[in-house]
Amino acid sequence: MFAQASHPTLLIPGPIEFDDAVLTAMSHPSQSHVGAPFVQTFGETLTMLRKLFLTTDASAQPLVVSGSGTLGWDFVAANLIEPGEDALVLHTGYFADSFADALSTYGAVPTQLKAPIGARPTLEQIEAALNEKNYKIITITHTDTSTGVLSDIKAISELARRVSPDTLVVVDGVCSVGCEEIRFDDWCLDVVLTASQKAIGVPAGLCIMMMSGRAIETFEARKSKPGSYFASFANWLPIMRNYEAKKPSYFATPSPQLIHALHTSLTQITALPMEQRFKQHYEVSRYVKKSLEDMGLKQLASEEAAQANGMSAVYLPEGITAPELLPKLLAKGIIFAGGLHKEIATKYFRFGHMGVSVTNGDLGHIEKALSALKESLEACKK
Ligand SMILES: *Cc1c(COP(=O)(O)O)cnc(C)c1O
Repeated sequence: MFAQASHPTLLIPGPIEFDDAVLTAMSHPSQSHVGAPFVQTFGETLTMLRKLFLTTDASAQPLVVSGSGTLGWDFVAANLIEPGEDALVLHTGYFADSFADALSTYGAVPTQLKAPIGARPTLEQIEAALNEKNYKIITITHTDTSTGVLSDIKAISELARRVSPDTLVVVDGVCSVGCEEIRFDDWCLDVVLTASQKAIGVPAGLCIMMMSGRAIETFEARKSKPGSYFASFANWLPIMRNYEAKKPSYFATPSPQLIHALHTSLTQITALPMEQRFKQHYEVSRYVKKSLEDMGLKQLASEEAAQANGMSAVYLPEGITAPELLPKLLAKGIIFAGGLHKEIATKYFRFGHMGVSVTNGDLGHIEKALSALKESLEACKK
């Protein structure tokens, strides 16, 4: 049996802890990326992504390309919007600023709709914004990892379809796919982009996306060429279609080792109904948040419905700083993350609760983290 070397438990909002089987899958012998065995593995991986995103629509297209979540922004900006076109970017923290930056890099014109820290734009504000301009896309950060704010992508998508039916609904699901409820078909989403190292529990290095048939039609109707060579749907869509049809195909070399890890993780995840996985993350998150509250700690996201289920962003108590607290936690074998939102970075910390740390209670990660936190806070007060 393979066992991981003893290490502090990594409970940051990604990368997360890995399952042994996922790591073992990476020590697969070298394979040709166009040979039948690997093409089979890649094809099955793409098909399993349809289950992860809860889509049975044959026109939806999964995509897996070497890179990180950020590459998903480049894919959107280079393929689904053209220079000079408008994008409405809903802002619930740091990651919207970066997505907006990526959009403008390719010549699109982002308009940010910002909420105060810990809050989210209201549906009324979003409706008013959508009525102002002809937006090609609306982007929503499902969980903003800098604030732990969860957006209601179902309600926003419904609203967008009603008031601005041609606008593509694009979800940054980097910190939500695999831990938050996402129903690609039922909620009429056009793009959900994510990365391997967060709730999917695979080492960093893969950008993962699901696109609707409508998104692909929008791409095909472009007047200008895609703004990127590597991040071009024109180059990747035929490759993905071929892999899923188990036909060898090449544009740029994929990482067979990472695809094996993803195949293993998706096999585990899709063995159970997605509903069960959403519920596990919800229940553990409620338990964590209640325990934090009992320690006198306050979430950045004040409204319960706006609190992410895969992580908690929590204000430090008065007089305690992250450089005091985090080393005490590390000494007890727990790694949390500091603040990320630049306006309040020193005032809070983040606790990631996703993947095996949540689904495998036998690991004891959550209990260990909560007691380490309680003891460390007491030690800071002395
Ligand atoms: C982590 C994260 C990203 C960036 O992903 P990388 O894999 O670091 O490139 C984007 N959006 C959100 C919401 C994230 O949490």
